[in-house]
Amino acid sequence: MQTSLEKLRKFFRLEHENGYSNKAIIGGLAKMLDFWEGEARADQIQEGVIQAVVQRLRSYDGLSPQSRADALKGLWKRIGDTYPETQQKSGPPKSPRQAGGLVESPKPAPISNQQLVESQQTHKPSSSPTRGGITGGQPRPPRSESVAGARTSATPAALDAKLTVLQGVGPRHAETLIKLGIHTLGDMLYYFPRRYDDYSQLKPIKSLWYGEQVTVIGTIQSLHTRPIRGGKATIIEVVISDGTAALRLSFFNQPWLANRFKQGDAISVSGKVDQYLGKLVMNSPDWESVDAENLHTNRIVPIYSLTERINQKWLRNLMKQVTEYWAPAVADALPESVRNSARVMPLSEALLQIHFPDSQEKLTAARERLAFDEIFYLQMGVLRQKRDWQSVDAKRFSIPDEWLEARLTSLPFTLTSAQQRAISDIRADLDSGKPMNRLLQGDVGSGKTVVAALAAGMITMNGAQAAIMAPTSILAEQHYRNFTDLLKEILKPEEIRLLVGDTPELEKEEIRAGLANNSIKIVIGTHAVIEGPVQFAELQLAVIDEQHRFGVEQRAELRSKGTNPHLLVMTATPIPRSLALTLYGDLDLSIMDEMPAGRQPVNTFVLRPQERERAFTLLRGQIKDGKQAFIIYPLIEESEKIEGRAAVDDYETLSKEVFPDLKLGLLHGRMRPAEKDETMLKFRDKQYDILASTTVVEVGVDVPNATVMLIEGADRFGLAQLHQLRGRVGRGSDQSYCLLIPTREDATENERLQVMAESNDGFLLAEKDLQLRGPGEFLGTRQSGYASGLRMASITDVKLIEKARIQAQQLFQQDADLSKPENALLAEAFGRFWGEGKGDVS
Ligand code: ADP
Ligand code: MG
Repeated sequence: MQTSLEKLRKFFRLEHENGYSNKAIIGGLAKMLDFWEGEARADQIQEGVIQAVVQRLRSYDGLSPQSRADALKGLWKRIGDTYPETQQKSGPPKSPRQAGGLVESPKPAPISNQQLVESQQTHKPSSSPTRGGITGGQPRPPRSESVAGARTSATPAALDAKLTVLQGVGPRHAETLIKLGIHTLGDMLYYFPRRYDDYSQLKPIKSLWYGEQVTVIGTIQSLHTRPIRGGKATIIEVVISDGTAALRLSFFNQPWLANRFKQGDAISVSGKVDQYLGKLVMNSPDWESVDAENLHTNRIVPIYSLTERINQKWLRNLMKQVTEYWAPAVADALPESVRNSARVMPLSEALLQIHFPDSQEKLTAARERLAFDEIFYLQMGVLRQKRDWQSVDAKRFSIPDEWLEARLTSLPFTLTSAQQRAISDIRADLDSGKPMNRLLQGDVGSGKTVVAALAAGMITMNGAQAAIMAPTSILAEQHYRNFTDLLKEILKPEEIRLLVGDTPELEKEEIRAGLANNSIKIVIGTHAVIEGPVQFAELQLAVIDEQHRFGVEQRAELRSKGTNPHLLVMTATPIPRSLALTLYGDLDLSIMDEMPAGRQPVNTFVLRPQERERAFTLLRGQIKDGKQAFIIYPLIEESEKIEGRAAVDDYETLSKEVFPDLKLGLLHGRMRPAEKDETMLKFRDKQYDILASTTVVEVGVDVPNATVMLIEGADRFGLAQLHQLRGRVGRGSDQSYCLLIPTREDATENERLQVMAESNDGFLLAEKDLQLRGPGEFLGTRQSGYASGLRMASITDVKLIEKARIQAQQLFQQDADLSKPENALLAEAFGRFWGEGKGDVS
C-alpha cells in the first residue's frame, strides 16, 4: 500500500480508537493535511481522492463524533473503491457506530467487526430488541447500555454491580438473568414488565365467557389428583371460587403441584376459558399464589417475560427489592428545565411506577416519561445530524431564470404548483453553498420524476454529474426513458446512461469509464450504481427514489461516491407531517400534496366475494376498450395456514376458465428478477391484457393504459399499501377503477376498505392507517429506521412526539453541543444512546 494511504489508515484507526475525539493528531486531524497532501501527490494518488480527503478533514473538527465516524468511513470506502488493496488489512471499521465509537465511550472500541464480535460477545448491541415471550438461547445485550438516558457518570456505581450481590441470587441465577439481558442492577431497572395484572379490575368468575383470555382470583375449594392413561400420567383438578361462582382448573402431569395447593389458599390464575361437558374450565393455566401485598397494596402487578429456571414471583420479588432501593438513587439526565416545561415525571419515580404502579394513571405517566426520553434523544440526534451536514461546504449551482423557464416551456405539461414549489426549494438548496439534504414526499402519481430530472439538469448544466438510484430495474429503466426524454434539449443520449445488474459487462465498463472521465453526466440505475468499481469524476447530486426500499448503508454509499454531494431522496409514503418531522427531521421536507390537473380520482368500490363476477364484467368491458387491468393477490400460492387467494392458482383458473380469450401475465416475488422485468415490460407494451400479480408491482411502475386495479384479499393489506397499489392505475386521463374484494363476506364492512372507497388522499389515508394499525406495519421494518430503537414510545403517539420534538428543538437552540453545565448529564447520556448503532435515515 502507498505510504500516504498507510499513514491515513493508521491515523484513522487511532482516531477510531480514541472514540472520534479528534485527538489522533495533536491539534486535530486536519493538521495532517500539512504534510499528507504533498506525500499523496508524490505517491500519485488520484486527485479526486486527495481532494476528498482534504475536504473532509478540513471540516472534521466541526463534526459530532458520529458524523466524524461517518466521514472517515465514507473516505475509507472511497479509497477502497479506488485502491482495493488498501482493504486487505483491517481499515477503519465497517460500521463505526456499532463499535460504540463515541467520545464518551469508556472503553477503547475494537477495530474490526470480527474482533468486535469476539471481544464483546455479551455486549453485542442487538438491532431488534425482542419484546416479551419466553426465550432461551443467546444471551441478550445489557438493557441499560443503549437505553435513552439510562446511564451517566452520576449513575451510582453500584448499579454496575453484578446481580450476585443480591441476596438469593447465585451465579446460576445470574447467568439465567443474563439471558434476559439483565447483567447488572441497573439493567434490572430497565427490564420493564411485559404486561400487568390489574387486580383492581378483576373479572368475577360468574361473568366469564368461553374462549376468553382472563385472570381471575379465587380460593381453593377442593383438590383431587387422579391417574389417567392407565396410571401413566396424572391430572390434578382444582376448584376455585371467588364467591360469585366456581371454576374448575385442570393441570396435566404435574403431580408435584398437589403439594403446592392447599384448600383455602388464594391463587390467581391466567389462561383461556375452555369448556368441558358444558361447564367452563381452564386447562393448565398460569397460576400463582396471591400475596396479601399484591392484593391490597399493589393492585396492579407486573408480569415479566421469563426464561427457564426462574419464575414470576421470584423475579418480581427481586425487582421489588432492587427498584425500591435503587430507583430513587438514579440520576435524571433530563435537565430540570426540560422536565418542568414538558411536565414529565422524574426518572426515579417513573422507574418505580413502571414496575410497581400505584394506579393506572401513574403507570401511564411513567410510560410517558420513559417514552419521552426515547423520542427526545432521537430528536436531539436528528437535529445534530442536520447541523453536521450543514457544517460542511458544498458546491454552489446558480440556475439562471431563463434556463429554468426554457426547461419548463419544453415540458409536455404545466407543472403543478406543488411541483413548482419543490423545484424552487431544490434550486435554493443547490445555490446555498451547503449540501442539500431534502426529502421529496409526494403521493403516488404526484410527479416526482420530473422534479428529480430538473434537479439533475441543474447540476449537469454546470458540468457536474448526477446519479439516480431506484430499487428495481424496471423503475430504473422507466426513469431512464423519462430522463432522456425530459432532458433531451440539454443532454445528448449518450450522456445519460442506464446501469443495472443485467447491463452487459462490456457496457458496464464503458459506463464506468465515462463516469470517471465525466463524459457521462447522469447515470440511472439500481444498486449497481454504488458497486465498488463505479467512480465519478464530479458527482454533485445523488437522487434516491422510493427511499424506504433502501437500507441506510446504501444511501451512505451513494453519497460517499462524491464529496459532500447534494442529496435528494424521494418517497411516495405519505407520512403525516408530524411523523415526517420526527423520523426525517434531519432532512428538509418538500411535500407535493397536489395531483397533476386532469387526473380523475380512481373510483373505488368494495365488493363482496360473491360479487366477483361483477368485477370481472367491468374488467372485461375496460379491456374491450383497449385498456388493461391488474389483479393483485395477497399470496403467491395457496396455503393451508393462511386463508386467501393466491396469484399462481388463480392465474391458472382465470386464464383457462374465466378469460380464455384474453392474454394474461403472472408476476410474483419468487420469479427471477429478469423474468419479473420481462413480464412487466410485456404488460407495459400491451402484450398482456391482465396482469395477475402479488404486491411486487407496488413500487412506482407507470402503465398509464391500465385502468382497473382489482385487489383480492383486500382486507389483508394495510391502507398505505392499498393506496400504493391503487396508485398503479389512474395515471392516464381515463377514468380508472379500483375494486376491493375481501377474503370473506364479513370483512366487507372492514373500516380500512371503507376508508379507501371514500378517499383518494394519501395523507388522509396515512393518518388513518396509523390510527388503525400502529407504526410498525405502517412504516415497515426498514423504513422505521430510527424508530426501531423505540421500546416504550409508540410512533402513533403524535402528541407525545410533538412535545418531545418541541422540547428538543428549544434545547438545541440554547445549547446545541450540550456544553452548559446543567446539560452535562444529558450530554453523556446522549452520547451513549447514539453510540449504540442507531441508523441514519438520510
Ligand atoms: P410519482 O410521483 O409517483 O413518481 P411520476 O413522476 O411517475 O409520479 O408521474 C406520474 C405521471 O404523471 C407520469 O406519467 C408523468 O409524466 C405525469 N406527470 C407528472 N407531472 C405532471 C403534470 N404536472 N401534469 C401532467 N402530468 C404529469
Ligand atoms: Mg416514482
